[in-house]
Amino acid sequence: MSAVFSGGCQCGAVRFQASDLGRPSICHCRMCQKAFGGFFSVAVGTDAAHVTWTRGEPSLFETSENVFRGFCHKCGTPLSYHHDGGIVLSIGAFDNPKNFEPQVQLNHGKRLPWIDQLFEKPAVTSPEMEAVFAAVESYQHPDHDTAEWPPETSV
Ligand SMILES: [Zn+2]
Ligand SMILES: [Zn+2]
Repeated sequence: MSAVFSGGCQCGAVRFQASDLGRPSICHCRMCQKAFGGFFSVAVGTDAAHVTWTRGEPSLFETSENVFRGFCHKCGTPLSYHHDGGIVLSIGAFDNPKNFEPQVQLNHGKRLPWIDQLFEKPAVTSPEMEAVFAAVESYQHPDHDTAEWPPETSV
């Protein structure tokens, strides 16, 4: 993948561009569960030279020796995993996460006991729920780079 892909946190304080990305993966380890507040991490990596922080920078928490997890200090979005070999970026933080279908599972033995049945659960929806979601005004940064964020509001 030689193309340049952009992404960032939910509030827009931290934005990045990355290229030369490797194999997208999910990881079931306990540290990834905790760092993402989820059931597994979803990530794709490259070397540090191919990541540019175009607005702000992630705050870092050292989770083990010389390994740091990066997140937005304003909104908390998990953004990155920094290690000696490079930087791994959260797939969900990219502007177009559909570009990165995970190809492998890491720490498969650590997965939650019901994870393999996760998507067998019934999908629940209704016209009322759809209407509620449709009426939500999002304050989230849009899925593309912006010259200025938040936008200046005219009085
Ligand atoms: Zn943020
Ligand atoms: Zn992990």
